[in-house]
Amino acid sequence: MSKGLFIRVLTLLALAVCCGQGAGVDGLQVLRHTREMVRHGPHPPGTEAQRKVGEYIAGQLEALGLKVDTQRFRPVTPRGRLRMTNIRGILPGPNERVLILASHYDSKLFDTFKFVGANDGASSSGLVLELARVLVQHNPTGLTLWFVFFDGEEALGEWTSADSLYGSREFVKREGDRGTLRNVGAMILLDLVGGKDLRIFREANSTPWLNKIIWDQALRSGHERIFRPSGRASPIDDDHIPFLRAGIPAVDLIDLNYAHWHKPSDTLDKLSGPNLEVVGAVVLASLPEIARQLKRK
Ligand SMILES: [Zn+2]
Repeated sequence: MSKGLFIRVLTLLALAVCCGQGAGVDGLQVLRHTREMVRHGPHPPGTEAQRKVGEYIAGQLEALGLKVDTQRFRPVTPRGRLRMTNIRGILPGPNERVLILASHYDSKLFDTFKFVGANDGASSSGLVLELARVLVQHNPTGLTLWFVFFDGEEALGEWTSADSLYGSREFVKREGDRGTLRNVGAMILLDLVGGKDLRIFREANSTPWLNKIIWDQALRSGHERIFRPSGRASPIDDDHIPFLRAGIPAVDLIDLNYAHWHKPSDTLDKLSGPNLEVVGAVVLASLPEIARQLKRK
């Protein structure tokens, strides 16, 4: 090897280790994805903007070499029948048991102000995309991974069990009908995980052993500022509920203290790349233990 080439190889190695696009979750990359989704403006279900956000997500998953499929459906909502699409990227593992990493990618519809949902939908979707990039390089679970993006999480009117969680309810129903739901061992849901003042409490509907693995990992890594050691979040209705109802262990990592929740101020400038990176790193580091538990069960 020539001296010049040697130095170039060394530089490339150093870049790969230090500066993003490496083996760990990159908060800047999550923010880039988030920006790409938010730039389409408000994107509630059935809109052209939401179709474009979905196209972006599917394109990113395909670029990672994942098999991508979609579920299209048209549920009745208080705004009439709306076109919705769930998106899934599949990373096959040696074991056909499935672990799901999920987020919703619709923004809530508001008639009186512009709402882009930078943290409520987009940041967690960006983080799931970034986790997919890292896990494609190295999947430490041995399991099959599904990266799932739900449409229609938000209510189109007042939140009720019929007007909410359209995408996750449809997903569980379809996979149940196909007989593939029984392969799903657990699901990890991310929602509102990018705020600057991020504080996540153990959500009370979530499966205790999943909460325990994630909090043990977070506290061992010194992230108690974000993953609060004590206290519980009140039980939340979110996209993990249809899975829990189907008997699948599920956990919702969600910040219920986000000051800009469902406000026009939920914009990109309220997000923190480093906080997103912490959540991603904790989830990533928890996966081997979650996989071990699933193989035991
Ligand atoms: Zn919301």
